[in-house]
Amino acid sequence: MTKAAIIGSGIGGIAAAIRLAVKGYEVTVLEANAAFGGKMHQFDLQGYRFDAGPSLFTLPHLVDELFTLAGRTPSDYFTYTRLDPITHYFWPDGSRLKAYADPEAFATEAAQQLGVPKQAVLDVLAKSARLYKGTADTFLHKSLHRLDTYLSPDVLKALGCLSDLGLTTTMHAANAQQFSDTRFVQLLDRFATYNGSDPYQAPGTLNLIPHLEHNIGAFYPKGGIYAIASSLVKLAEELGVEFKYNERVERILTTKGRATGVQTAKGTYQAEVVVSNMDVVPTYRRLLPDQPAPEQTLQQPRSSSALIYYWGVQREFPELHLHNIFFSQNYKEEFEHIFKYKSISADPTVYVNITSKLEPEDAPPGCENWFVMVNVPHHQGQDWPQLINTTRAAVVNKLSKMLQTDLAPLIQCEQVLDPLLIEQQTSSYAGALYGSSSNNRMAAFLRHPNFSSKIRGLYFCGGSVHPGGGIPLCLLSASIVGHLAPTPATITKYKAH
Ligand code: FAD
Repeated sequence: MTKAAIIGSGIGGIAAAIRLAVKGYEVTVLEANAAFGGKMHQFDLQGYRFDAGPSLFTLPHLVDELFTLAGRTPSDYFTYTRLDPITHYFWPDGSRLKAYADPEAFATEAAQQLGVPKQAVLDVLAKSARLYKGTADTFLHKSLHRLDTYLSPDVLKALGCLSDLGLTTTMHAANAQQFSDTRFVQLLDRFATYNGSDPYQAPGTLNLIPHLEHNIGAFYPKGGIYAIASSLVKLAEELGVEFKYNERVERILTTKGRATGVQTAKGTYQAEVVVSNMDVVPTYRRLLPDQPAPEQTLQQPRSSSALIYYWGVQREFPELHLHNIFFSQNYKEEFEHIFKYKSISADPTVYVNITSKLEPEDAPPGCENWFVMVNVPHHQGQDWPQLINTTRAAVVNKLSKMLQTDLAPLIQCEQVLDPLLIEQQTSSYAGALYGSSSNNRMAAFLRHPNFSSKIRGLYFCGGSVHPGGGIPLCLLSASIVGHLAPTPATITKYKAH
């Protein structure tokens, strides 16, 4: 049987494994950690369950699609509910807003709470939809590095919305042009952080992101985000995929410009197709040290990272929901800290995710599991223990003030994740959450392709390559790999010659 070896069992690697197994490959996934999931793992702490990494889930059909592709009924494995409201927003001036799932209701709420013109909110969501629909087929669903992508009718669709694309303006400038209310601009600008970018530098094109959450919807998987990985691993195993844990790949093997397998400390795995779900920078530096690396791509600026405090909180807060955002006073300064000073603002925007709101068993009775996250720079030699302490004090102080409750004595237990740990646990270069940032208008074209142009049979998926980071884009990277990889029959024919 034709073999495929996959390096890493992040969400991209799991999805690629399923796609190649369906295509007829005998698939082995080599994972350095003791368990699957990469950034998408979970842990327990003194009776609280936490999703360690991602918390916001959009485009669930991309998960369903994998079950359908394998001839299964998705709901037999994986279920989810549509969130309404999606997010609770809090500003330092005391204003609050619930982002309802229905655009009309959201626009009405924005008008009532912030005095923003209702029609302007509906218009900005409609524009976001146009941007997404015009560009997704070309920029997200296909390889940008293959000629046939540019010969398809989808390119005409993308060209059709060229004037809307916002390539000549920044996300922030585009939003500030539409709204005079700085709070609503802040709400829209925050979507830049969904791929680790800076709204004051990233192109207006990124204003397509709100469409995913506000028009299509935000979802919550039963069992938490971890259920995405665990249900897909169950499917993969049913399809015969073999997962080998505690097995770090040390080399990608090549002969005459072709990938022939991978080498771990335990042995060699021959394979006709190799897919790296490892961050592309260490893939070249560590696994392909003798091959010329695409330096321009590897040296693209990294995305932001995150500092997370996982707290067991001994009280329930009825004013909070699953997703809660506590904005800073000065958003521009906050991003300057992240991307210019490589530091953390003294007043950061704080995101609090509480899954026990929807799954009470995630926390002891009367308590809540808080995932408290601040956007921070990727690792560039900062003193993290010091930043963790000062930021913790700032966060506790800010939340205590905005919730009018002394939070410190309510924190029963704590665990912390910082950029160094993210790098250590997943090999993500410098602990960046989303590979390279999208802070310039060519960024989409400068991500590494989903295939190697030098080594036949070598493919790439996951958040550090095209089309980008985040669960949906990692799933799309695996879909592109699934389409690019030849069928086993083609490989057999090639080998016969
Ligand atoms: P990764 O998760 O990066 O996993 C790579 C895997 O490869 C790891 O298991 C690693 O151990 C393994 N590996 C690496 N090197 C080797 C080797 N040499 N040999 C064998 N195995 C190896 N996304 C969203 O959509 N919504 C969110 O709300 C969101 N929030 C986030 C919050 C945090 C704190 C973090 C960390 C991420 C967040 N993301 C979010 C981003 C999302 O989690 C990632 O984009 C996605 O999970 C990355 O998946 P991946 O396929 O790139 O693999």
